[in-house]
Amino acid sequence: MTDLSTFSPASTDSKYSVSVRDLTLSFGSLTVLGNLNLDIHDGEFLVLLGSSGCGKSTLLNCIAGLLEPTDGQIFINGRNVTWEEPKDRGIGMVFQSYALYPQMTVEKNLSFGLRVAGMPKEDIAKRVARAAAILQIEPLLQRKPAALSGGQRQRVAIGRALVRDVDVFLFDEPLSNLDAKLRSELRVEIKRLHQQLKNTMIYVTHDQIEALTLADRIAIMKSGVIQQLDDPVTIYNRPNNLFVAGFIGSPS
Ligand code: ADP
Ligand code: MG
Repeated sequence: MTDLSTFSPASTDSKYSVSVRDLTLSFGSLTVLGNLNLDIHDGEFLVLLGSSGCGKSTLLNCIAGLLEPTDGQIFINGRNVTWEEPKDRGIGMVFQSYALYPQMTVEKNLSFGLRVAGMPKEDIAKRVARAAAILQIEPLLQRKPAALSGGQRQRVAIGRALVRDVDVFLFDEPLSNLDAKLRSELRVEIKRLHQQLKNTMIYVTHDQIEALTLADRIAIMKSGVIQQLDDPVTIYNRPNNLFVAGFIGSPS
């Protein structure tokens, strides 16, 4: 019998946590991403850096399954997830806007998805307690979102991804709505979270400082094309081209 698996792009090298293969995404006649390729290592903190409109969110949404690619494939842990539902991909997403349920307490916000998924109560309680401890939001569990600061809300939003025990975290400009002081505080926390959990994290930002301080590697994007993919020191010291040099050198 013919082994069909050799003909099917059902999997790729599983040493990568996330692989984007020849990804094209068009909105009507506007091609935002054209044949983009990107491999992200297991446990890596990868920052997608670029100015507004360059296609960062579009790429992240394709990985998350919120946008269907026009062409190309997405692999997570070697599995072709291109046509899988977002909830089946083993990813958790944190957006710029907190997207918390206003009528629910923090505890309910954290546990809601797990209850919907039918997880036993004791397991839910353990997951919520662990996430609350890691993010230091235990004293806030009985409050509603309206009674939280912006930074606290964003911690809860991260907590909602954390309780699901996902392999890959996707962050889309999670700190953009916060003031400078909170931004730098939460930056430190996100770094600590990564060191503790060792998950793969893909983090979108237009802020060079955020990228340089958080990333294992930075992918600098312009008009849907990755201009350079390197560690922060290399990007800073040896930019590939004038665009990268100018972008890294300019204030955000
Ligand atoms: P970024 O996150 O880097 O700011 P986006 O990925 O949101 O950029 O957008 C990339 C480009 O795609 C922009 O030109 C934007 O206007 C366009 N775009 C994004 N979403 C849509 C959509 N739903 N329909 C049409 N164009 C879109
Ligand atoms: Mg965006």
